[in-house]
Amino acid sequence: MGIRELDESVLELKGIGEKTGKLFNKLGVYTCRDLIGYYPRGYDVFEEPKRACDLKENMINSVKLTIIGSITKRHVKNLSIVAFEAADQTGKVKIAFFNAPYLAGLLKVATTYIFRGTVKKKGSFFTMDQPKMYKEEDYYPLIGKLQPRYPLTKGLSNNLVTKSVTRAFETVGKIEDYIPENLIKKHGLMGYYDALIGMHFPKNARDLEESRRRLAYNEFLLFVLRLRLLKNASEESVNQAKMTEADEVREIIDRLPFKPTRAQYNAFSDVLNDLSGPFVMNRLIQGDVGSGKTLIAMMALITAAANGYQGALMAPTEVLASQHYESFKEMALKYGINCLKPVLLTGALSAKEKREVQRRISEGEVNCIIGTNALVQEKVNYKNLALVITDEQHRFGVRQRGALAGKGQSTHVLAMSATPIPRTLAIILYGDLHLSVVDELPGGRLPIKNCVVGTNYRPTAYKFIASQVEMGHQVYVICPMIEDGELDGVENVTDYTELLRNVLPSSVKVEMLHGRMKPSQKDAVMEDFASGKFDVLVSTTVIEVGINVPNATVMMIENSERFGLSQLHQLRGRVGRGKDQSYCIFINSSDDEDARKRLDIMNRSNDGFEIAEEDLRQRGPGDLFGVKQSGELNFRVGDIYHDSDLVKASAVDADDILKDDPGLLSPQHTVLKEVLNTKSANSVDFTTL
Ligand code: ADP
Ligand code: MG
Repeated sequence: MGIRELDESVLELKGIGEKTGKLFNKLGVYTCRDLIGYYPRGYDVFEEPKRACDLKENMINSVKLTIIGSITKRHVKNLSIVAFEAADQTGKVKIAFFNAPYLAGLLKVATTYIFRGTVKKKGSFFTMDQPKMYKEEDYYPLIGKLQPRYPLTKGLSNNLVTKSVTRAFETVGKIEDYIPENLIKKHGLMGYYDALIGMHFPKNARDLEESRRRLAYNEFLLFVLRLRLLKNASEESVNQAKMTEADEVREIIDRLPFKPTRAQYNAFSDVLNDLSGPFVMNRLIQGDVGSGKTLIAMMALITAAANGYQGALMAPTEVLASQHYESFKEMALKYGINCLKPVLLTGALSAKEKREVQRRISEGEVNCIIGTNALVQEKVNYKNLALVITDEQHRFGVRQRGALAGKGQSTHVLAMSATPIPRTLAIILYGDLHLSVVDELPGGRLPIKNCVVGTNYRPTAYKFIASQVEMGHQVYVICPMIEDGELDGVENVTDYTELLRNVLPSSVKVEMLHGRMKPSQKDAVMEDFASGKFDVLVSTTVIEVGINVPNATVMMIENSERFGLSQLHQLRGRVGRGKDQSYCIFINSSDDEDARKRLDIMNRSNDGFEIAEEDLRQRGPGDLFGVKQSGELNFRVGDIYHDSDLVKASAVDADDILKDDPGLLSPQHTVLKEVLNTKSANSVDFTTL
């Protein structure tokens, strides 16, 4: 058994019937591969039991207590409640169990247990509802062990996922390694199979970190290899679509209500040099959020149009694509750029509409095609595509960029990204591209006002939000989780939306957005927000990068200690895009001194590059679990900042491998080549497994 046998359906596993199978499908898990790649979101640690006086509110605690007083049993509506008090020398806790009436007969006053569960405070009392109970002799052997906590959905318990993962490992058997042994030895990394097991069932914290690092290395190596292979295929292609500077670009610059920044000019002049030069363009524009990258893209598309070619712009979401389309259409009209004929192509169009758009593209009626990855997926025959632009490149794979470029002959490629990656890493991660940096923000904007505050600031924040809405502005609120129960002490979008509907004045309209909604639903919510149909958007981090709602002036981020600084910066970039003063409220729910220090940088700086460097400097081991730190470049366990040493090592290794065996033809590279060529059909990318 091994890497090729992972494609069995989860339905083949013992204990997974149709109903459970459907629930797994909902989470994007279809095969054993997906299940083994369904890594925990965090881990529970069984700690030394605490004393009652040391309990921490809203966190999972273990506490050793003796049952005192009497054990009461009562009914409230259909709910039966068994309740009692338990105490040690230092304090008392009220404990309750629901719908377990038999416990009343089982439990004895004056016996001692370890209780483990979330502690809340009601008035001056600590309470624990439904804690797990252990006899002392059962609990002590568990201390120090890590228990996986999986992202769940209603009907699927953590226990069931844990069991299913175990079954998947049993069914698949030992999974063979596909990375040359000498490289694994060189970096002192652990075996592939052990690392996969270690991600789910780590023996201890160190085992977990080593497992994660091993899998991170796999991700980076595969990524860099793909990049190198792509580069070799496209390097220095002769420019068969030479373009010259277009008058229309000068016209639009003259007529704009603002002057482009020096950085925008420079980046565009790099682009123009490429378009008119001897070789096909392969360029990345990196510029902080709000630096005005869209205008550069538009100038490039106008250049292509004026030279008689088609250009395409691909955005990661339908909302962003249609936003670009609307603004290009409007600007072309307003500034009289008649050569630019934009059209929108997304998966949301009806079959009939799509056919019409495809006809217009293939007959050359339109020359500025804006869309989502439908640009790649749909059957589109371009008449003479010569320029492709990907906006928010880090949201796409290397492959998608390549696929779009493949729609034309010797197509110029321009990628744009707001992810401020330090240059040393950018050279590797975007190794196939030349780099232009837009290191300047348009003038005349008011800097965002920031505050990093504790949870006790919430009432003040809600009042502030209400007052901004009163003034006609809009507000984003970010929570890390989608629904209750995924992780303790972490806010979730579903409950938070309800909460805000209750605490904010009834005139304030609140809606939510998260990644498990259907694409069409997500887009509808974003569109309604952009057009001002409601005031407050409660969202996970799916609020897409790139979205431009200049009327939004407040960004409030719950549990901000759980995000990477760069990600916080991206989120903050959703506000401060208009002329009005904007605000970012970072709620820090931890009392950890390091978290406070780390977040403090957000207070001091609005500069993405500075923040990224600081992120790289400060990120310590062990910061990586709980919530994924940065979604950049779609790595699942690797983190380009934390694992920057592995990113660099993988670049050296990829070059070594390809130097000796450019076609990956030697037997020891057979499976590696197969893995590289596998298109991941499901949400779990083959790069990790
Ligand atoms: P990003 O780089 O994040 O994609 P955008 O291109 O969306 O940024 O630009 C953000 C906002 O700034 C837009 O509303 C855009 O019209 C405006 N903008 C772009 N360039 C300038 C400029 N030179 N001066 C003033 N405003 C600008
Ligand atoms: Mg943008």
